[in-house]
Amino acid sequence: MIRQNVLEKMVIYRGDIVKLGVDAIVNAANPSLLGGGGVDGAIHRAAGKELLAECYTLHGCAVGQAKITDAYALPALKIIHTVGPIWQGGRANEKELLRSCYWQSLSLAEAHRLTTVAFPAISTGAYGYPPQEAALIACQTVAQYLSEHSFIHKVYLVAFDFNTEKIYKSALAQLAAASKETANSQNQP
Ligand code: ADP
Repeated sequence: MIRQNVLEKMVIYRGDIVKLGVDAIVNAANPSLLGGGGVDGAIHRAAGKELLAECYTLHGCAVGQAKITDAYALPALKIIHTVGPIWQGGRANEKELLRSCYWQSLSLAEAHRLTTVAFPAISTGAYGYPPQEAALIACQTVAQYLSEHSFIHKVYLVAFDFNTEKIYKSALAQLAAASKETANSQNQP
């Protein structure tokens, strides 16, 4: 069951992730970690060339895993780079890999004593993951992590557009409703 205090730590934010002055922003990177399009391109452009230089030293990242760098010219303190799965129809372990991106990123943030973390909608752009399913996985995984670990106190789910914001609102509402139902059934005599 997801407690109310966990849901209160999860915030939907519509806008550009590079502008957020949080402890860590998460980058939806590709396995090379050497920059790309979408949110990855925006982060590299805004952080500056030193980010690419540090990324070269990391020698890439496997799908579902995460690595950390400084944030250079960004207002955030650190960037956590994670590699989402490319959608292949749902039979290539995409769900577990996407879950792993959120979980590993939060674990890495906690290991570095970072308490506020902002995520883009990983894999839902160029990688083609259906946005509703991705939003549910994002919300469920973050909620589960926060239920089991109390160190991180705010997680921003960043929606770049209105449609993604709507999808996140509905995913969070679904999670809250499911959690209320479980609470009610447990309170039955
Ligand atoms: P992926 O390759 O993992 O699909 P993309 O960068 O193509 O990554 O897209 C992931 C999500 O990030 C999409 O929902 C896209 O709209 C969103 N996005 C793109 N630019 C930004 C930005 N500057 N801030 C926040 N989200 C962004």
